[in-house]
Amino acid sequence: MKVVIVGGGGSGWIAASYLSKLPHLDITLVESPKVPTIGVGESVTIHVPRLLRDLGLDEHDMMRKTGSVYKFGNNFIGWKGGNEQSLFPFRWNVPLNEIKRVMKDSTEHNDAFKSLKSLHGFNINSYLQAMPNKPRFTDYWLALHKQNRINPDFPVSYCAYDYFSKNTITPYHNDLVFDPSGLQYSFHINAEKFGDYVRDNFALKHGVTHKVMHIKEVVTAGDNVEKLVYEDGTEETADLFVDCTGFGRVLINKLNPKWKHYKLSPGDSAIVCQVDYEDPSKEINNHTKSIAQNQGWAFDISLYHRKGTGYIYSSELCNEDEVMEEYSKNFLSRARMEPRKLRWEKKRLYESGKGNTVAIGMSNGFIEPMEANLFAIIINGVTNLAQELKHPGVKNINWDSFNLKIADTYDDIHDFIITHYTLSPRPGAFWDEMRSIGIQEKHHELIRQKYVDQRNSFAGAVQSRSLFPDYMWLQMAIDWDIDVSDWPMYPKLSNTDIDFVQEYINKMETTTLAACDRFPNNYEFLKETVFNGG
Ligand SMILES: Cc1cc2nc3c(=O)[nH]c(=O)nc-3n(C[C@H](O)[C@H](O)[C@H](O)COP(=O)(O)OP(=O)(O)OC[C@H]3O[C@@H](n4cnc5c(N)ncnc54)[C@H](O)[C@@H]3O)c2cc1C
Repeated sequence: MKVVIVGGGGSGWIAASYLSKLPHLDITLVESPKVPTIGVGESVTIHVPRLLRDLGLDEHDMMRKTGSVYKFGNNFIGWKGGNEQSLFPFRWNVPLNEIKRVMKDSTEHNDAFKSLKSLHGFNINSYLQAMPNKPRFTDYWLALHKQNRINPDFPVSYCAYDYFSKNTITPYHNDLVFDPSGLQYSFHINAEKFGDYVRDNFALKHGVTHKVMHIKEVVTAGDNVEKLVYEDGTEETADLFVDCTGFGRVLINKLNPKWKHYKLSPGDSAIVCQVDYEDPSKEINNHTKSIAQNQGWAFDISLYHRKGTGYIYSSELCNEDEVMEEYSKNFLSRARMEPRKLRWEKKRLYESGKGNTVAIGMSNGFIEPMEANLFAIIINGVTNLAQELKHPGVKNINWDSFNLKIADTYDDIHDFIITHYTLSPRPGAFWDEMRSIGIQEKHHELIRQKYVDQRNSFAGAVQSRSLFPDYMWLQMAIDWDIDVSDWPMYPKLSNTDIDFVQEYINKMETTTLAACDRFPNNYEFLKETVFNGG
């Protein structure tokens, strides 16, 4: 089967690399010499380390060549109006074995660990999953919360990564190779360099043909792309076309696409800029900072050699001069360049795949960058596409289930984004307006539904059915003082187990706190372990 991928940004090269694992596909990737890649996108999710493992690529090599650093979660700062922080980690459970390892010479902590041993090798998830009715960890947290027996500061009592994040400490020791089954981490990367990295280290080595040609015409017949016509007049046909042309949507726009518009979500514009460090040992964070602003929010993403920053706002509701003023004041004291403005339509395709064409990445849709969702969408799209193409005799794809999965992913992301705007108690005219949407749309009820939805259980998240596991919805509710007293807890929990989990949480907290000063500073860790002292 001949597959032509159009677009040489992150989505095109990820698609080319992953699909080139299927030997019956003859893949060509075409990119324009005239249309640059978008050149933004720096925070990614656990899908990226998983992709690297699927491709058999060395993550330290990738990090050195793209200037990447490890990321353990997303820290929402100032969403209540002050300087409060709420880290949303990829997983709530801290690498306890690693803590145990660095604390091995401490009697006090050996004692603590002895009592934790009954929890199946210190993994409370395995413990809970082994119980007949498979309760969620959040069920216990909620039970303890309702009985006033737990620190109501959710990230602190729920997730020991919080300590590491706030103190720019890496939760791993120097010589550690990360546990691949843990999936507790991801990266801050340079999206463009990452595309080039998988191109050079995988796709081209696995037989993908690379053409640098500008497409001047897309000839269609019904729901199909018949051929591409290049500027030099030559033509390209294929059994399957993959549109990875970003906001250009060069192929998909010719197939009378129907779009779902996310009208409630405010962010349709960004000002972005790269910024230098003053002191990397203090500034290289192991989490993305998502900082609420007067008229939206801003990201602050540490890479090894510089930071990426940007302010997300609404072109309709916000005053651009005021946005620029606030952004400059808060972020641009060490700007490397003139800030760039970007604008997009908040929408997704109803049918990502149709006839002989499928859209992957931003060509398929974009809401806004919160929670670093686009690389996750790309990798979900590509892995699902590979499923459709895995049989050598495949000819016509029935896109129904593929389209449903992709649409669900976008809608789920939208719900997470919109409730950050509409439920945040942050003061100000912009935020008041957002809250009125939340009341009208009953968003309190929506996050409760999301919490209960089985797709968002631990098992659902591990199977990539959800980007936002249950604890994130609970965390959001607790952070913003939403009453959870009537949130359901199922199944019935025994008092002995509730006591047991409380003891586990307390031990985890004290052990982690005491362990903090034995772990390295982020920058020192990266310098020694990944960047060979450079
Ligand atoms: C403000 C902002 C912040 C973002 N932050 C994040 C983030 O933190 N995390 C995340 O995961 N994602 C983020 N993204 C998304 C991220 O930038 C993209 O997912 C990523 O860069 C991949 O883009 P792409 O490959 O789909 O498109 P692009 O990079 O735009 O590539 C398009 C390709 O199509 C080719 N092309 C276009 N027209 C033609 C033609 N006529 N003929 C031939 N080729 C053509 C171009 O040459 C280019 O190679 C962000 C996006 C924005 C706007």
